[in-house]
Amino acid sequence: MGKEHCFSLFCAYPLGGFSGKAHGQPFVHICKSHTRVIPAESYSGQASKDERLRAITLLQQKAGSLESEIARRKEIEKALLRRERELSDFLENATEGIHQVDANAKILWANKAELELLGYKPEEYIGHDIREFHADQDVIADILDRLGRGEKLHDYEARLKHKDGSLRFVSINSSVYWDGERFGYTRCFTRDITERKLAAEILERTVVHRTAQLCETVAQLEAFSYSISHDMRSPLRAMHGYAKALLDDYGTKLDPEGVDALQRIQRASHRLDLLIRDVLAYSKVAKGELDLKPIALAPLLDDVIRENPDLEKARSCIAISEPLHTVLAHEAYLTQCLTNLLENGLKFVAPGSVPKVQVSTEAVNGHICVSIADNGIGIHPDHHKRIFKIFGRVHPEKRYPGTGIGLAIVKKAVARMSGETGFKSEVGKGSRFWFTLPNGNGH
Ligand code: ADP
Repeated sequence: MGKEHCFSLFCAYPLGGFSGKAHGQPFVHICKSHTRVIPAESYSGQASKDERLRAITLLQQKAGSLESEIARRKEIEKALLRRERELSDFLENATEGIHQVDANAKILWANKAELELLGYKPEEYIGHDIREFHADQDVIADILDRLGRGEKLHDYEARLKHKDGSLRFVSINSSVYWDGERFGYTRCFTRDITERKLAAEILERTVVHRTAQLCETVAQLEAFSYSISHDMRSPLRAMHGYAKALLDDYGTKLDPEGVDALQRIQRASHRLDLLIRDVLAYSKVAKGELDLKPIALAPLLDDVIRENPDLEKARSCIAISEPLHTVLAHEAYLTQCLTNLLENGLKFVAPGSVPKVQVSTEAVNGHICVSIADNGIGIHPDHHKRIFKIFGRVHPEKRYPGTGIGLAIVKKAVARMSGETGFKSEVGKGSRFWFTLPNGNGH
């Protein structure tokens, strides 16, 4: 061809094939091995010299900005690498155990704290199935199941096997990193709560033991006070009876001082008898098994009033907001509670004013709240704390006789029937005492 035709031979190289710093030297070498080099079409396509110079200027500008872009990216890369090292150092040295598990329950990674917690070397733990280290297979099955369903675990308690054969109680917080729809890995944080658990167990055992001891002591004390109180009543009655007999038979022969002394003996023995009666009632509330049954309050209240002369006398002062609910209660205790509260409502009124007591019930959260409200003298807030305590009297005995045990009996009896007691009161504006009991209709 060379003999017949006159032509120039050009070699063509795709520029795209020389990208990257590593191709710089070979490219220079190729250029050197040719007598002439012509840039790509975009350059040689320019017609005039001016246009070519402009193209060169543009290329120089591009090369310059590429170089500074590369330098900037290198800086970013370095910063990223530093950050990555910091983060993995942070996780590796965290005081809480951390591990990752894949969708097949294989441990992908675990930090130092986790390995120390269980006493394994990395190769004895990482790459193994997490189930091998759980003491309770149903627990780990549940954990994996929940995580697989996208749930997050908070303070989930489990027992892990230590390499030395002991068990560690742990609290787990875990969630899954999802790669789109795909289960990536679990982000599991494991806290050792063994000490806390053991301490709680010891505490629990101590509490059970001490409670049993206390119950026994209280039962002994109650039995003791019950029998003492019970035995005290008969000599007291004798005192009262003899004082009465003396007054009846020899009253006319005694001077006024002697009569007054006998009357004082009578009053004191009567009061002591009332006190003992109430203490006995209080002790009785603590004893024995309770059999709760549904009781319709309206007929019971009617009986309570009818069978108690003091209440019957004041019937017109007692208003009942019908209908009243049915409660689950012990009849004798409920009778005692209603009697005590009604008597107080009628008793604690200002001199000269007519008492008004209102009984009502209300269903609240599956319980029935029984209220006994009065228009009486009320109770100063300073005394609110003590009135449910035994002998917690507030008002003077002379004007408002009583033993100070009635409300303590109400509180104890209601508690034994699984209810609560409370009141609201304002001096001079009356009081509303209430107690709750389970609903006797079961709803
Ligand atoms: P008692 O009625 O025998 O004094 P309670 O235990 O029933 O004893 O009541 C304790 C104290 O609470 C009473 O002495 C009284 O001071 C106060 N109290 C109870 N109920 C009322 C009421 N409805 N209004 C005002 N004060 C009351």
